[in-house]
Amino acid sequence: MRVLSENQASTKRVLSEEQKARKRERDIARYDWYKEHGICVHCGRNTAMINSISCPDCSYKRAEKQRERRQNNIDKCREKDRIRCRERRRKRKAAGLCTNCGKKTPYKSRAYCYECMIKSQAHRRKYLRIKNCGVENLRSQFFRENDLCSFCGKPVIPGKRTCEKHYKMLVESIAYARKMRKQKFDAAASGTYIGLGIYKQ
Ligand SMILES: [Zn+2]
Ligand SMILES: [Zn+2]
Ligand SMILES: [Zn+2]
Repeated sequence: MRVLSENQASTKRVLSEEQKARKRERDIARYDWYKEHGICVHCGRNTAMINSISCPDCSYKRAEKQRERRQNNIDKCREKDRIRCRERRRKRKAAGLCTNCGKKTPYKSRAYCYECMIKSQAHRRKYLRIKNCGVENLRSQFFRENDLCSFCGKPVIPGKRTCEKHYKMLVESIAYARKMRKQKFDAAASGTYIGLGIYKQ
């Protein structure tokens, strides 16, 4: 609920608890009526889409607004997503369920159930196939054969396969991967790493 600032509160009529409750009731009644009659609950004017409570207009506007809010707070949102996913995985694991679908029991002592395991393997294979045989690969092959950076096609550093910029990036990412792997090994040795990128708190 929106909190009124002192200025607003003094100019606006302050509703008593009883009035607030009545307003809430009215809102709910209106919402139900619109829903029942297939009218958008947001604008109360247009016909709602099938299996939905809103019209295309409102649905689009709301999605757009949500996207905007997310874009403005992208780092926070991503962090929240990460935490939510981790929490969900942890709960499913604790309940003895597949961490992917949360419905079936895991296959042997794995994190995924049999179906999810097969699906994720197939997905991974498909992804690798595209990566290895796609247009991308032909392009980088051409770059490689002509002494051009396999990422961007600029001239390479003598004796290397990439340009200066991408060489730097590669070195950094390899160092980062090494660091993360070491961190996992150390955590696993001390028992704080459970697996699948999950650490004990
Ligand atoms: Zn609407
Ligand atoms: Zn599953
Ligand atoms: Zn490059």
